[in-house]
Amino acid sequence: MARRYITLAGPFRGEMGQMYVRCPACGEVLPLAEAREQAMVCPWCDFHFPWEATAHLELLADAGSFRPLAGSPAGPLLLGQATLHGRPVAVAVADGTVRWNASEVRALIALLEEARLERRPLLWVMAATQGTEAESYWPGVHLALKRLQAAGRPWLALLSGPGYGLPAATALQADLLLAEPGAVLRPARPEVLRRAGRLPPEVLRPPRKVLSAGWADAVLPRREQRAVLAHLLDLLGAAGPPPPRPEPAVPWPWPLGRPAGDEGDFFELHGDRCSGDDAALRGGLARLGKDLRLLLLATAQGRGRPAACPPDGIGAGGWRKATRLLLLAGRFGLPVVTLIGRSTLHLGRKQREAELSASLGEAMDTFLTLPVPTVAVALEGDDGPAGLALTAADALLALPEAAASLREKGLEADEEVATPEDLPEALKRHLHELLQTYAIHGPLGRSKLLQRRHVRWARLAAEAEKPLLRCSPMETGDET
Ligand SMILES: [Zn+2]
Repeated sequence: MARRYITLAGPFRGEMGQMYVRCPACGEVLPLAEAREQAMVCPWCDFHFPWEATAHLELLADAGSFRPLAGSPAGPLLLGQATLHGRPVAVAVADGTVRWNASEVRALIALLEEARLERRPLLWVMAATQGTEAESYWPGVHLALKRLQAAGRPWLALLSGPGYGLPAATALQADLLLAEPGAVLRPARPEVLRRAGRLPPEVLRPPRKVLSAGWADAVLPRREQRAVLAHLLDLLGAAGPPPPRPEPAVPWPWPLGRPAGDEGDFFELHGDRCSGDDAALRGGLARLGKDLRLLLLATAQGRGRPAACPPDGIGAGGWRKATRLLLLAGRFGLPVVTLIGRSTLHLGRKQREAELSASLGEAMDTFLTLPVPTVAVALEGDDGPAGLALTAADALLALPEAAASLREKGLEADEEVATPEDLPEALKRHLHELLQTYAIHGPLGRSKLLQRRHVRWARLAAEAEKPLLRCSPMETGDET
């Protein structure tokens, strides 16, 4: 298929002197002014035209709030600060014509340093990236981004169009990586892939590809970007006034429907950033009630399993996703809730066992040492050990069937919750209590709680008959 994004025809003048654009995806023609009103999105097929950095910044930032970084280049790369629904952010917006030369890279590093010192989150909008002259300067960008992340500032990357090479590889390190419909990400450049004897990448892609490849957290159409980005910054705890909640709010992936009276919402984050997105383990940023922000991990349920869910349960990619999301929770101080349904391990494919064992071990190691409160909810009697692994939390709640199943394994839940409708209140109670414990008792209180997680894990590991679960996180962690 032709690489349509790159050969995209520019606007043309019609008979009456009006400017038009032709959608390269569906072939329809529409007046340029109308296309601009629609944020350059085709009204017929939802194709997202590439557009200028200034227009994209105008769409995202509060009107008149952009202040360019002193001495920064103008044009296809805009660097500076702005507000997003009143929330201060450092913004870097590049369009498809930017060339990353030394001066661009230096200005970007200056922006990152300023964001770190002034405690601002970073929003980096990337488009088709070219230019290799900057390669020797790029490690400086990595270092500045690491420093920004170490300072606890969220970094959101938004991919608009195809991204290749170093900037694309950098985007994979973002806290959250969002992609416009049709965006592609290739950490290797097309010419490198061609030299390696592979076909050139198709440039127009359906959005699911970026998700199923495990690269992006979510796909964001242009019209939703401003509201959703502000919402995500809010869920990550970035300072600023509460933004309007995107409508409709997505309810939690409760096994038995949305709990009555709960005002919470859920934003699903996909992928392990390397090999794919495992539907057997879902995760995302969530809010319980009005203001309790947390990270949610939910294993597929016996009832209502998604169709894409593999029949034999959570695979290596699922555990890698879990590790990625748990680390995100740790960095932003978000308590973690795990909802555990029936789940098993991929035991059928022998050759994958080492990979599965290593990724499960890494996820468990992360879970057991996470410096934030963790609450596990056992929803069903579980016949596989994988779901049980996620019960090694500070507090363990269980529905009656699951509580009985846990007792058989010598484990006692901290609270038996009578019905799923009672879960939100029980969760809020335990989370508030734990948050207080963590806040008041400091490292000492935390170490007692962490010890409790390890004791739970040790009991589970001793009970487990499957050798996979017996491999301790420490052992797998040392395997390098
Ligand atoms: Zn179209």
